[in-house]
Amino acid sequence: MSLKVVTLGSGVCANMCLPGPRRYPPGFLVDLDGQLLLMDVSEGARFRLEDVGYDYGLVTCAAISHVHPDHADLATFLQAKLCRALWGPPVEGVDKLDVYMHEISIDGFKQSWMWRHPEAADKMNHFPEKFNFELQPMRGGWEKEVLPGLKLKAFGVYHGFGQHPALGFRIETKGATIVYTGDAGITESLFANVERADLLIADCGTRIGQEYTAGYGHMGPGQCGMLAYRSQVKELWLTHYIGFDTPAAMEAEARKSGFTGTVKVVTDGLTWEKK
Ligand SMILES: [Zn+2]
Ligand SMILES: [Zn+2]
Repeated sequence: MSLKVVTLGSGVCANMCLPGPRRYPPGFLVDLDGQLLLMDVSEGARFRLEDVGYDYGLVTCAAISHVHPDHADLATFLQAKLCRALWGPPVEGVDKLDVYMHEISIDGFKQSWMWRHPEAADKMNHFPEKFNFELQPMRGGWEKEVLPGLKLKAFGVYHGFGQHPALGFRIETKGATIVYTGDAGITESLFANVERADLLIADCGTRIGQEYTAGYGHMGPGQCGMLAYRSQVKELWLTHYIGFDTPAAMEAEARKSGFTGTVKVVTDGLTWEKK
């Protein structure tokens, strides 16, 4: 078994606010023996997949944590998949995409897809003999083996003042467990869903000392560290941070909880692997 997680985007919804390397909006590729699952489909995901050596056409499964624009630029990815299927070589997997998202968000996406294609508004798939996508509804507590040997579990998280239907993902394979919080404030229910993960990818959208402002629904590095420590995680990735705090300060803050595992302040391209 070979399981890999590749960071396509560790950034946020704006750039040029601070110096530092370019970080694209959220996206993580999970590669289990060549089967590809994309967690969050943000701007330009197809280019970033190519940049790390993958054919975006071969992604057959996408899970969207929530539909804020920095996480869900789905229409452009679907169009790219469709045109890749129409124009590119007919490789296995190029003709389909299963898109998992919160059940409450599905109707809105259907409307926006039709808004973009009034000429074909009577059908979701415009060239069904070449390419088909399916919108698969999820909710907290939902689980399914979405790829052979890969179970995807969704759990509800607190985000957007608790008013946005948002999910975190727990991925279980034979060899390892990976958890991605999506955008999430700290809540008691998070701990059980994160428990004993080999890798925890945690939303660190709130800066040090401002966790009290996290009513919107993001965590600070101290909260991410506490989550990792109490849930006995092996490796913690801090992602989706704006960049006001230095990586060293973020790591130190995360360790205040007593967490002694690996901590990484994520930059694009960072990869985790288990063979
Ligand atoms: Zn969000
Ligand atoms: Zn976000």
